[in-house]
Amino acid sequence: MQKLDDWNILDNKITPFMIPAEKVAHVHPDNTLEHALLVLIKSGYTAIPVLDTSFKLHGLISKAQILDSILGLERIEPERLQNTKVDGVMTSSLACINDSDTFERALSYSINHPFVCVENSDGEFMGIITRSKLLAYLNGYLHESRKKT
Ligand code: AMP
Repeated sequence: MQKLDDWNILDNKITPFMIPAEKVAHVHPDNTLEHALLVLIKSGYTAIPVLDTSFKLHGLISKAQILDSILGLERIEPERLQNTKVDGVMTSSLACINDSDTFERALSYSINHPFVCVENSDGEFMGIITRSKLLAYLNGYLHESRKKT
């Protein structure tokens, strides 16, 4: 870990905490809900980004949204999984920051979001920052600070 005297944690850049785009499980807007549900179940994640073929961010899709979309009046209607596309169900309201943003900004977004998406200045998706990574880092930092006092 970097020496505590050298910097203020809140002003630190976020790129060291980022899971890079190539390691982020994602689906395309025109994938079926069935495919998205398979990716979500196999990866074990609650929600994943929706990216197009040029890695532009379109939204997020979650298990809860997919299950909600197949709820009929009397029964669950699994046949809808094959007939519905991800872009008909995903949310486009998401937490997104720039790759030049600070730890402070990522931390404040992560209060309400389990992960925050990161884009560069050209609007390309660069990766995600998870709340757990930020908290683990903050925890380490606070322990180090305590040892010093
Ligand atoms: P974690 O803090 O590792 O439990 O991750 C919190 C949430 O971030 C997960 O439930 C997913 O929605 C998302 N997430 C974490 N890692 C990845 C990944 N490699 N690909 C896609 N989504 C991820």
